[in-house]
Amino acid sequence: MTTADSLGTRRSVRRLSSLEACRADLYGGPNVLVPPRHLMASSEAHDIAIEMAMAKQHLDEEISSEDGSPRVATPIERPPQTTADDFALAFDIDGVLIRGGEPIPEAAEAMRYINGENPYGVKVPYIFVTNGGGKTEEERCLDLSSQLALEVSPGQFICGHTPMREMAEKFDTVLVVGGVGEKCRIVAEGYGFKDVITPGDIIKTRHDTTPFRSLTKEEYQNSRVRDFSKINIEAIFVFADSRDWAGDQQIILDLLMSKNGRLDTRSETFDEGPPVFFSHNDVVWSTSHEHVRIGMGALRASLEALYKAVTGKDLSTIAFGKPQLGTYQFATRLLRQWRKDTHGINRPPSTVYFVGDTPESDIRGTNEFNDISDSDWYSILVKTGVYQEGTIPRYPPKKVCQNVLDAVQFAVEREFAKSGNESAISDDIDSGFVSESAGVYN
Ligand SMILES: [Mg+2]
Repeated sequence: MTTADSLGTRRSVRRLSSLEACRADLYGGPNVLVPPRHLMASSEAHDIAIEMAMAKQHLDEEISSEDGSPRVATPIERPPQTTADDFALAFDIDGVLIRGGEPIPEAAEAMRYINGENPYGVKVPYIFVTNGGGKTEEERCLDLSSQLALEVSPGQFICGHTPMREMAEKFDTVLVVGGVGEKCRIVAEGYGFKDVITPGDIIKTRHDTTPFRSLTKEEYQNSRVRDFSKINIEAIFVFADSRDWAGDQQIILDLLMSKNGRLDTRSETFDEGPPVFFSHNDVVWSTSHEHVRIGMGALRASLEALYKAVTGKDLSTIAFGKPQLGTYQFATRLLRQWRKDTHGINRPPSTVYFVGDTPESDIRGTNEFNDISDSDWYSILVKTGVYQEGTIPRYPPKKVCQNVLDAVQFAVEREFAKSGNESAISDDIDSGFVSESAGVYN
């Protein structure tokens, strides 16, 4: 079993190409490795899973349809004959299972397949690892449960900002940016952050902070006037996509140029501002629109360019989420706990199949984590999201599948071929791509 120490040792000798990423590459904001102490400790994963399960139970009780029946129906399934103990699955969500708020057509069948409705009668343990966020993990699970007609537990779910909960003890007062209304303040407070400020608080306190933006009536009511001459904002967290790039960037820039996060000050050296954390670095993402839309990684690139233009200095920011290896370490612990608690399997899987649609996050992270993990992390790229057929992904997967149903069928078939005939399995990359360096990506 991999330990933190062995991971740390291995990391110190592996090729950290991510740390040398070129800024010219929009995706290549420094792929900073977050120290393990900032991520969920293995001993806490179980507690958090239980907390989430309890919170979900609450939400389940509170949220019901008009006739009083539970909103999430438990599907009737054939009892599985066996549970796969040697392999597991991990899914990205947007572009794999959901697109534009609607399930991808094959998603529900894919979920049924891995829940036992397959020729082998095998049930395969799985988790979800999304860079998305802006809601509590419990809310996201309920959304996903409803969309897939399947019960999803918070104990099998990680979103982009989940690891940020480990930062709550480190900082007293923080600025939280992004998302709808007060959602991200609520998420941050739920993580244990003690004093959470939003851009709305700053605009309400001083309306000329953002000359072209006024708060809506609801925003004004929810925002809190503070005496910022006495408050040091110690860190900035972008939890979800900004709904107002200009206003949010103005406020972040003010803080970055301040002395120790005091809004009414200006540093002469521009190196006294608070750190900035993003919950992920995806420049684009897949929605109902036929072309990908810009996301949080684009804001990050924009902010860094803006900082350079205004101060002449480089800005170094930190991103969580995929492809950060810490996210995969977190996923490993979650999967271990989920397999133990739900399936009674108390050992790591030999193989984890990761199904994603974005080469720069899903595939890159899976491939790089595979280099340091004791388990085999096998990347599968689907064509239902960011990746478009006909382009060459910058980070080639081990397998390309049409959609998530094809992906899970491939994984299960591969495992049964492996167990039936070891020689039938090849570790060769089977993606059909011949070059990693073609420089074409989408
Ligand atoms: Mg995706």
